[in-house]
Amino acid sequence: MFKKTKPLVIANWKMNPETEQEAKNIVLEIKEGIKNIKKISTVICPPVIFMDSIKKTLSKSIYLGAQDAFVGSGSSHTGEISLEMIKKTGAKYILVGHSERRETEDTEEEIREKVSGVLKSDLKAVLCIGENERSEHGDYYHEVKIQIISALTGLQKKYTKNLIIAYEPVWAIGNKENKALNSENLYEMAIFIKKTLNDLFGQEVAKNIPILYGGSVNKNNAKELLENGKVNGLLVGRESLKGQNFVEMIKKIAV
Ligand code: PEP
Repeated sequence: MFKKTKPLVIANWKMNPETEQEAKNIVLEIKEGIKNIKKISTVICPPVIFMDSIKKTLSKSIYLGAQDAFVGSGSSHTGEISLEMIKKTGAKYILVGHSERRETEDTEEEIREKVSGVLKSDLKAVLCIGENERSEHGDYYHEVKIQIISALTGLQKKYTKNLIIAYEPVWAIGNKENKALNSENLYEMAIFIKKTLNDLFGQEVAKNIPILYGGSVNKNNAKELLENGKVNGLLVGRESLKGQNFVEMIKKIAV
């Protein structure tokens, strides 16, 4: 059911840092810190405005990603950045449906269109899903299932090779006490996500779709979440902006 792959660690910088110089400094710190680590794939998703200069600073083994993209026709969309423009920056990964965007911007229908548009453009779509809260009765399974079905229904199997699921319980994202999900519950959810993918696309396809975990990942819990949660990687917010912490995290999961 679970295919072991090279762990993928994606840094989601959101609307940080404030300046291009700070962004470059973080990248340089990460680049230097993980230059000998071949066992982990690292992706940095900075604000679009820094993408060009970060691309120039990155090494070949660190990939560029975007936090969103506009998928649709025409160019009369003030404030938006098209998928084609994002592709030209050299980005290979695009986050789709992050909970912060689901809250204010993206509808389920837009998320479905974005996933499909990104995958058809031969880029990797990182579909973010996750329950708002963990109730006692397990309703969160249903919530997660609905998100997956809604985003992926109608997607042809041939486009799934670049699909990645990032399971991020919303309550764990940016959690003030740094409270992540425990690895046992993560494993249960990873099995459930696989089963849902299995029902949609069949076992052969489902087993190849990587699942990442995100939500208060730090250098102390990363290895445990990855190994005992049996996921293929991690999506990291705050800690990815602290160069040294991020480097330590990657070093720990690489051994
Ligand atoms: C995120 O924004 O996707 C995230 C996981 O944030 P944090 O690691 O800060 O909880």
